Amino acid sequence: MGNPHVLVIPFPAHGHITPLLELSQCLALKHGISKITFLYPENYHQLVKHALATEEGIADRIRLLSIPVGPKNSSLEDASDYRWKMIDDGYFSMPEKVKELIEQVNAADSDKITCILADQILGWPMEIAKEKGIQGAIFSATAALLFVVRLCIPMFIDDGIIDNDGNITKEQMLKLSPSMPTVHTSYLTWPSFGKWQKLFFEFAYTKNKSLQLADWALCNSTYELEHATFDTQPKLTPIGPLLASNSSRENSSGNFRPEDLACLKWLDQQPPQSVIYVAFGTTAFLDGSEFQELAMGLELTNRPFLWVVRSDIVTSNANDAYLQGFKDRVGSRGLIVSWAPQQEVLQHHSIACVLFHCGWNSTLEALSNGIPLLCWSDFADQLFNENYICNVWEVGLQFNQVDGKLITREEIKNKVEELLSSEKYKANALDLKKKLRNSIKEGGFSYNNLRSFVEWLKI
Ligand code: UDP
Repeated sequence: MGNPHVLVIPFPAHGHITPLLELSQCLALKHGISKITFLYPENYHQLVKHALATEEGIADRIRLLSIPVGPKNSSLEDASDYRWKMIDDGYFSMPEKVKELIEQVNAADSDKITCILADQILGWPMEIAKEKGIQGAIFSATAALLFVVRLCIPMFIDDGIIDNDGNITKEQMLKLSPSMPTVHTSYLTWPSFGKWQKLFFEFAYTKNKSLQLADWALCNSTYELEHATFDTQPKLTPIGPLLASNSSRENSSGNFRPEDLACLKWLDQQPPQSVIYVAFGTTAFLDGSEFQELAMGLELTNRPFLWVVRSDIVTSNANDAYLQGFKDRVGSRGLIVSWAPQQEVLQHHSIACVLFHCGWNSTLEALSNGIPLLCWSDFADQLFNENYICNVWEVGLQFNQVDGKLITREEIKNKVEELLSSEKYKANALDLKKKLRNSIKEGGFSYNNLRSFVEWLKI
C-alpha cells in the first residue's frame, strides 16, 4: 500500500470550492488519507478557513496553499472574470505553477504528490497528471446530467442542433437515453455565459478529452437521484451528497460573508414546519421589479419567512427605502439577513420549504433534510436542476412568469399555498432524504464508491 498525497485543485467559485474542500476533509478525516494539498484562489481565503474543520491535526493532513486569481488584491467580484480564463489556460500561468509545485514537492524523499484531483471545469490538470506520470481524477460539483449533456455536444453538432460555435440552430427537446429526463435546447448552459460563451463552449466541447485522461470521474450526486444518467456514463462515479461535516465551526467572524447566527434563535421561536426560507446562493441576481414582487409575494403569504438578501442581489440599488417599508409592514413575521448559516438553517425543524435559485449545492442540502422546494431558476445548471425537482423527483414547483418575464406576487403566494397544502411534495422529499442519507452511510452506494476511490489512491 502506498502513501498517497493528493493535490486538490478547485474551480474558483464558492459552490465549487466548498464541496471539494468537504471531499478533502472526508478523505483526510474519515478515510485515512494523511496528506492533501488544497490549492485555492487567494480571494477565497476566508471562505476556505471558515469551512475547514477544527479537528485536531487537520492542519497536518490538509495543507492549504493559496494562489492569486486576477491582479494582486483583486476582490472576489473582480476575480469572477479571471476565473473563466482559468478554465482555458489558467490565469497567471497556473499550469506552470502547478507543475513547479509538483516538481518541488516530488524532489523530496517523502510525501510525493501521487494524484491530482481537480474540478472537471478545468481542462488542464489532467494533462499535467499524465505528463508527470501520476494519478488523475476529476470532480463534478454539478449534477451528472449536466456533465453527460455536454459530452453529447459532438452528437448535437452532427444532428444540426447546434453549430460549431455553440449557437443553437434548432430548438427542440433532447432525449439522450430512453430513461433519462428530456431537456430542452434552451437549457444548454454556454449561451448564458455572455462574453465567455465561446470559451465555455469550447471547453465543454473538448471535455471528452479530460474525461478520457482522468483515471476517475467523481460526482457530487447520488445514484438514487440520477440513476439513468449514471447508467449511460459508467465512469462517472457518484459520491455525494457532500454536506458540511463541520457543524461545530468556529465563530463566523472570518467568513467572507459574515453569517447571521441570530437567525437560528429566531427560527427557534417559529412553529414547526412553518417558515419559508428564501435564498439565491452566491451569484444569482434579481432586478428591481423581481425583487419587489418577491417581497410583496412573501408579504401576501401571511407565513413566517427567513430571507437572505445578499448586499449585491439586486442589480439596481434603489431598493433600500423599499426594503425598510417592507420590513416595517411584516414586522417580526419575517427576518431578513445578508447571509445565513444555510446548512444549519435547513436542518431546523421550523423550515417548511425553500424558495431558491436551484443551485446544485442548495438542492442537495434541502433534499438531504427532506424539504420541498420552490424554483426560481435563472441560468446555467439551475434549469436542469429545476427540471429534476419539478418533473422528475416531484419535490417542488416552479414559478410561471407573466409574458415570459415577471414572476408576480400572486404567483408566489399561490405556489407557496399549492406546495404546502399538498402532502405529495413533502412525502417525496422525505423519501429522497432517506435515500440520500443512506447513500453516504457506511455501506451505502456513494460511501462504497468513495471507499473504492480511496483504495485506488493507495495503490
Ligand atoms: N449559502 C450559505 N448561506 C446563504 C446562502 C447560501 O451558506 O445565505 C451556501 C449554500 O449553503 C450553498 C452555497 O451557498 O452551499 C450556494 O451554492 P449553490 O450551488 O446552491 O448555488 P451557487 O451559489 O453556486 O449558484
